[in-house]
Amino acid sequence: MIRTSPTLSLRTQTAGVFGLLVVALSVSLSWGLSAMLTQQIRRDEGQALQVVAQSAAHVLAEELSRRSREVQVIADARELWLQGLDSEIAKAALARSQASNPWNTWIGVADGSGQILAATGGLMVGRNASERPWFEPGSRGIYVGDVHPAKMLAASFPPLPSGEPLRFVDFAAPIRVDGKWLGVLVTHGSWQWADQVVESLAPGNAAERRLETFIFDRLGKMIYAPAGTLAQQLARQQTLPLVAADGRAEPAGVTRWNDGQQYLTSVVAVLPRSAASDLGWTVVSREPVLTAFARARAQAWTVFGMGLLAAALAALLVWWLAGRLTRPLSSIAGAARALEQGAPGAAMPVLRGSAEVAQLSGALSGMTRRLLDLNHQLEERVQQRTAELERANEELSRLALVDPLTLLLNRRGFDEQSRLLIAHARRSQQPLSLVTIDVDHFKRVNDSFGHEAGDQALKVIADTMRRRLRASDVLGRLGGEEFMALLPDTDAEHALALANELRELVAGTPIAEVGQITISCGFTLLDPAHDDMVSALRRADQALYRAKAQGRNRVCAG
Ligand code: GH3
Ligand code: MG
Ligand code: MG
Repeated sequence: MIRTSPTLSLRTQTAGVFGLLVVALSVSLSWGLSAMLTQQIRRDEGQALQVVAQSAAHVLAEELSRRSREVQVIADARELWLQGLDSEIAKAALARSQASNPWNTWIGVADGSGQILAATGGLMVGRNASERPWFEPGSRGIYVGDVHPAKMLAASFPPLPSGEPLRFVDFAAPIRVDGKWLGVLVTHGSWQWADQVVESLAPGNAAERRLETFIFDRLGKMIYAPAGTLAQQLARQQTLPLVAADGRAEPAGVTRWNDGQQYLTSVVAVLPRSAASDLGWTVVSREPVLTAFARARAQAWTVFGMGLLAAALAALLVWWLAGRLTRPLSSIAGAARALEQGAPGAAMPVLRGSAEVAQLSGALSGMTRRLLDLNHQLEERVQQRTAELERANEELSRLALVDPLTLLLNRRGFDEQSRLLIAHARRSQQPLSLVTIDVDHFKRVNDSFGHEAGDQALKVIADTMRRRLRASDVLGRLGGEEFMALLPDTDAEHALALANELRELVAGTPIAEVGQITISCGFTLLDPAHDDMVSALRRADQALYRAKAQGRNRVCAG
C-alpha cells in the first residue's frame, strides 16, 4: 500500500488558485473603479467650488460697475446742480440715493477746492477733502477706490458688531454743468456689501462644508474674509494662495493655507465691466479637503466594499464549482480507497460529466474488473491447490498408518485404533478380545520359494483373515509374518471360536506355488478397567507361544 504525504485536495487547490485570482481581480477592479470615481468626484467638487467663486466674482464686478455708473448718473444730472452744489434739490437727491441703496453709507459733494458742501445726514459738511484719495481722480472722471478703513467718518459711525472698523469702497465722479467743472460727487459704500454678496451666493450647506470665500486686492492682500475673520487671516499674513497649475486646467487645486490646513481652493479673477471699476480683485473660495473629498472617500469605500463582497461571493461560487468539477475524481478516489481496503461490494463507478472523466473512470472500471477477476481466479487456484495438498497429506498420514504390502494397519495404525476400541469398551462395558497370529514355519516358505512368493503368501493370508472379520474388527500386521486382531463386543468364548475359524480358513486356502500354510493363534479377553494393550499383548503372545510349543496350527487362550 502506497502512502503519500497528505496533500491538499484537488478541490481546495483549484478553489484556492481560482479564488485568489477572482479575489485579486475583484479587488483591483473595485480599487481602480473607486480611484476613477474619486477623481471624478474631486473634479465635480472643484467645479462646484469654482462656480461659487465665479458667481461671487461676477456679481462683484457687476455691482462695482453698476454703482460707479449710479454715481456718474447723479453727477451728470445737470438740473440737480444748476442751483448750486448744496441746493435743496441736490441734498434731496443725495438723500434719495442713499435711501435707495442701504449700502451707501455716506454721499457727499465737494466743491473745486475740496470743501464738502452737502452730504447725507449733514455729516462732514464744511470739512476739506482735497487730500482724500478719491478727490483728485474723481475730479477728472469716474473713480472707484479700493476698500479702505473709514477715516473722516470713523467717528460718526460705530464699529461693526464683529469689532472690525468700518470700511468703505469709494465711488466718485466729477460734477460738470455746461462743461464747467464744479466739484466731485462721492459715495462711501459700506464694505459689508461684500458680505452680503458672498453670503447670498454661498450654497445652502456652506457652513456645514466649511466653504468660505475671500477677496484679495490687486497686490494680493486679503480685503475680505467671512464674518469677522479678516483680522485673524491678516495676522496669519495670508496672501493670495498659489494653486498649483497641473496643466489640465483643473477648476480647483489642493493647496496649504497659512493655517496649516489643506484646502480645495478655486481662484477666480474679478473681470471688470469698465476701466474705472477695475480694482484687480481676485475671489478665492476654499473648502477643507476633509469635507470636500468626504463624499469621494465614502463612494470609494462603498465601491471597494462592494468589490470585496463580490469577491467573497465569487470565492464561494468558485468553491462550489471546484466541488462540482472535482466530484467525479473524488468518487473515483473514494471507490479506489474502498477497493484498496477490500470493502464488500466495492466497485469502480463509470462516471459521465466530461469526456476525460468518462474515459478515466471507464478504463479504471475495466481494469478493476480484470484485476478482481484475476484475483478471483487466483483464489480458486489456491483453494484447489490447498485441497490437493490436504488430500496428499491425508494419503501420507494414511500411508504412515498402513502396511503397504497387505494394506492392513501397521503397528502405529493398530495402536491408534486399539486406543479408541479400549476407550469404547470402557464406556459401553462390552467385552473386547485380542488375538495374535503367527504364520507357522514361514522361514521355510521364503527359503523354499523365494521372498517374492513369501510376500504373495502374506498378502493371501491377510486377505483371507480380513474377509472373515467384521467391519468393526481391527486387523493389523505387527511386522514380519505376525498379525493381530482386536475384536469389540467379543468375549473369550467367541474369540476362541473366531481364532479357530481364522486358523481353519487359512489352512483351508492353498496358496499358489506354496501350497498349504497354517497359522497359530493366541487370544486373551481384555479387562478394559485395568488392562492396557501392553499387558494384553503380553498375555496373547504367551498363549501364542504355547500354541507353537504344542505343535502349531492351533489356538491357545491367555
Ligand atoms: P515358527 O513356526 O516357529 O514361527 O517358524 P518360522 O519360520 O515362521 O519363524 P521365524 O521367526 O524363525 O522366521 C520367520 C520368517 O519370516 C523369517 C523371515 O524370513 C520371514 N519373514 C518375515 N517377514 C517377511 C516378509 O515380509 N516377507 C517374506 N517373504 N518373509 C518374511
Ligand atoms: Mg514369527
Ligand atoms: Mg512364524
